[in-house]
Amino acid sequence: MRPDQLQPLFAPAQSLTGIGPRLVALLRKALDLPAGVSEARIIDLLWHTPTGVIDRRAEPTISHAVPGTIATLKVRILKHRPSPRGNNKAPYKVTCEDDSGRIDLVFFRAERKFIERQLPVGEERYISGRIELYGETLQMTHPDYIVAADARDDLPMLEPVYPLTAGLSGKILQKATRQALERLPDLPEWQNPSWLDQQKWPSAAEAIARIHRPQDATDISNGAPAWQRLAYDELFAGQVALALVRQSLKSQHGRAVKGDGAIRQRISDALPFQLTGSQTTAITEIAADMASPSRMLRLLQGDVGSGKTVVALMAMAIAVEAGSQAALMAPTEVLARQHLETIAPLAEKAGLRLGLLTGREKGAARKHVLAALAAGEIDILIGTHALFQPDVQFRDLSVAVIDEQHRFGVHQRLALQAKGGDGGANVLVMTATPIPRTLVMTHYGDLDVSRLNEKPAGRKPVVTTKASVERLEDVVDGLRRALASGAQVYWVCPLIEGTGTSELAAAEERHAHLSQIFGEGVVGLLHGAMNGTTKDQTMAAFSAGDLRILVSTTVIEVGVNVPNASIMVIEHAERFGLAQLHQLRGRVGRGSRQSYCVLLFKPPLGETAEARLDMMRETEDGFLIAEKDLELRGGGEVLGARQSGLPAFRIANVPNQSELLAAAHDDARMFLAEDPKLTSERGKAVRLLLYLFECDEAVRLFRAA
Ligand code: ADP
Ligand code: MG
Repeated sequence: MRPDQLQPLFAPAQSLTGIGPRLVALLRKALDLPAGVSEARIIDLLWHTPTGVIDRRAEPTISHAVPGTIATLKVRILKHRPSPRGNNKAPYKVTCEDDSGRIDLVFFRAERKFIERQLPVGEERYISGRIELYGETLQMTHPDYIVAADARDDLPMLEPVYPLTAGLSGKILQKATRQALERLPDLPEWQNPSWLDQQKWPSAAEAIARIHRPQDATDISNGAPAWQRLAYDELFAGQVALALVRQSLKSQHGRAVKGDGAIRQRISDALPFQLTGSQTTAITEIAADMASPSRMLRLLQGDVGSGKTVVALMAMAIAVEAGSQAALMAPTEVLARQHLETIAPLAEKAGLRLGLLTGREKGAARKHVLAALAAGEIDILIGTHALFQPDVQFRDLSVAVIDEQHRFGVHQRLALQAKGGDGGANVLVMTATPIPRTLVMTHYGDLDVSRLNEKPAGRKPVVTTKASVERLEDVVDGLRRALASGAQVYWVCPLIEGTGTSELAAAEERHAHLSQIFGEGVVGLLHGAMNGTTKDQTMAAFSAGDLRILVSTTVIEVGVNVPNASIMVIEHAERFGLAQLHQLRGRVGRGSRQSYCVLLFKPPLGETAEARLDMMRETEDGFLIAEKDLELRGGGEVLGARQSGLPAFRIANVPNQSELLAAAHDDARMFLAEDPKLTSERGKAVRLLLYLFECDEAVRLFRAA
């Protein structure tokens, strides 16, 4: 349970005056809520930080007001000049003066009564807005603020500017945020006081208030002490959370899982290739982790096509040699099936019994799998999220391999490893995103890392080109020639912001178009809304070479493997991030054929998009691309955090704040070394911090302790 003290912050935003159901819907859009949160809460308003500030502090006399600037003026209302009857296109003007000169306030489509009430002739008002020059006359169109002469203090002299959404005005947000600030409770200090002194940082509550009520234009920069303080809080919370997860995994006594190598040998013998040096190293590292009594928590990083699957298979083979079971979890059904197909021939030769469990195994089929699993008649269970379900019981799970982990949350990882019974399972996480070090730390904590950094022998580089969509016909001609020589083609349709249906529509349209050119039976279509059986049939037909072109949405992004496919066309490539383009391109260049990747873009290309496409042409090195991606996009998104529901940072800005991150990392370690159960005075405050930043997995851990 969240501490009472924090409850007010987690109340729905609707509990604020002025926030009704309509605004709730708009807030949901504007506020970038964390995964699983469907309605904005007070805390979400507080984390919705300004991106700029309007400085209204200039208070010139009218004659000194500078056109083009924002100013606050004290004026007397002289006369009203309503729009002429019948011409409501003409504005309603209100002439005002002070001792130095005159200015017109200009209103389009104005409601007369409202203006008369706001600006009674003969009275004084403060007005604030942009000064303009119309011919010879100074004017202000739709002043931002009009307040009574005695209410100057109501004017936000430094007005925060928030990211908005259509229909949601800055004023509404400001008003809501002001109320939200009033609900901030007293918070204990969770940071080390001497560190705070050294950094000259304010308390957390002061910092939050300062960000929303800037007192200086520089308060809006994330180098400002208030921002630094909160960013540090967030990074520190994240580091403590990850360290707690790791601490609990490592401290629970695992068991030594050792095999005699017999199954591994049989797999080796059955492989049509030699393992690369880095594959061998990774397998050795994994074997050592598993043989040790503390639990394995290892990240296997390898570019697409680097051969992670066989490494995973070896890890699982160790489990089976030791008389226990293994699980392999993939983020999608297609991938789970593909893993099954890849592994099946080797498994058969090595005498491993495989099972499959996805959302599609239902009724009797599912029961059958579950029974076999519980009886130990399945050695390796391959599947999707379905593996998390509580009724999935292993006889003895000793290693869980999680593919493309960034699509799963930390709690899911925990849920799977918990199925390992007494000692818990060893965990191997595989990712094809070549995550730079800083991000490994923020998102995974101190995982041990094995890297596959060699491409298997015999791979040719992929030739990458970019082409305007206006040259679509040329591309199609090129495909015609390639198909004639036996090549196969992936054609990926763009991710369109918002609804999944428009992405689907684009793919369907392209499918129809290409079918017309190349013939019905030759072009397949794959998309996320398809039912599983159809998906499998389509994939199988493409794998078998019956389909020559596979048009798809981004469902093929990860892991799919058809070595004969040598051409990847990515439509609207400008809409994809680098990491995603890299992943997509990794689908080709897996066989002996020369491979091509065509990046189709719709002009005009923005600067960043162009930089991305050029980067793709320059290199196939995933780590280089990842670093560039980080540079172009900023931290949280590299992992596809937005899509995956991994918590993105709300305040912190990694990699720009990687020094803060490093400090938070060390701080968290030292702190936990002294107070592993969070029971000291500071420990209790840190618990609160974890609740504040909703580090729920971690919270569950210290509650269980
Ligand atoms: P990823 O790391 O993207 O999951 P996979 O494990 O799917 O890569 O491997 C891609 C392809 O490379 C597969 O067809 C696999 O059989 C093959 N492969 C893996 N290791 C080697 C190797 N050492 N030499 C040659 N081919 C390999
Ligand atoms: Mg893979």
